Amino acid sequence: GFKCGIVGLPNVGKSTLFNALTKTAAAQAANYPFCTIEPNTGEVAVPDERMRKIAAIAKSKEIIPTRISFVDIAGLVRGASKGEGLGNQFLANIREVDAIVHVLRCFEDDDITHVEGRIDPVADAETIETELMLADLESLERRTEQTRKRATGKDKEAALLLPMMEASLKLLQEGKPVRLLLEGMAAEDLKILRTLNLLTSKPVLYVCNVAEGDAAEGNAHTKAVAEMAAAQGAEAVVISAAIESEVAQLPEAEAREFLDAMGLEEPGLDRLIRAGYRLLELITYFTAGPKETRAWTVKRGSKAPQAAGVIHSDFERGFIRAQTIAYDDYVELGGEVPAKEAGRARDEGKEYVVQDGDVLLFRFNT
Ligand code: GDP
Repeated sequence: GFKCGIVGLPNVGKSTLFNALTKTAAAQAANYPFCTIEPNTGEVAVPDERMRKIAAIAKSKEIIPTRISFVDIAGLVRGASKGEGLGNQFLANIREVDAIVHVLRCFEDDDITHVEGRIDPVADAETIETELMLADLESLERRTEQTRKRATGKDKEAALLLPMMEASLKLLQEGKPVRLLLEGMAAEDLKILRTLNLLTSKPVLYVCNVAEGDAAEGNAHTKAVAEMAAAQGAEAVVISAAIESEVAQLPEAEAREFLDAMGLEEPGLDRLIRAGYRLLELITYFTAGPKETRAWTVKRGSKAPQAAGVIHSDFERGFIRAQTIAYDDYVELGGEVPAKEAGRARDEGKEYVVQDGDVLLFRFNT
């Protein structure tokens, strides 16, 4: 499955958010640093209104959403790249996730200690980014000499890697994350770069954790974060972890009322989960029948056989074709049979690139 790692300085609200996300008490929130020592992983359903509409048309008994994972990663402090705090553990855990959800403290509360003694989310973001860049720099410096020798010795893999490593090193030495290298990069190069598994090459989503009263409009801190994110080509969402942890415990109708009272249209967690999904460059396709309507996750750009493989490896191996109905057609025409009659059910082959919302039916050899 795909994983987002929740990171941030101690006491910014990571555990509160994670607990709300997973509705478990697995990661205990508490007012002291290093509370969450072991990385905790939680799977969450990806909210998607489309499932309900498809299920109504297909008369499905059940709706099964697709899921992504969030990992609550132990608090990082200044100096982590030099092993301070839980530094090494923290960095090792980040290596294992596909994307980074970076929680920033945008709430004032004199009772909750800030490790740096002041509320400044942009500076906090830089503190963490600096530690990640230092860790990348060190790991690259260690590896580049070795790779250079192998490249001179006509090692093909090393010859491909070396220019990537050198370009990454150059950026890091200028104090910039490797992420900046990715934009517009050719797919093959991207693949090679990914094998380096650098921390600052992972996509980042900033989460501004605000006080209850700021959840609808944000505040001066969240505006500063939004500007920073925009300058990096990253995304930022405003969430009140405190509200989310309350909403997560309420029955749906009460949660609705509570959100209304706060001036919110939907739980912030829904926005966060969807943003995480976008960050991971994932799309959803559906299967629909009387038994169930089910959502499935694939990487954007996946072809039909790969998509079939998410259901079962046999589907990929024996793939023949995929009956494909675009979501809009499915809903507007009223399901599979009318879509077929209207000529809107396409037979797609091995080279078809699956589109977000496609309702698929696979034909395969067993
Ligand atoms: P972590 O160290 O980043 O995991 O932070 P926690 O989730 O453990 O939160 C640290 C403390 O801040 C706890 O006492 C939380 O109840 C409190 N906290 C978290 N979010 C908010 C918030 O939005 N507003 C206020 N006032 N307190 C919060």
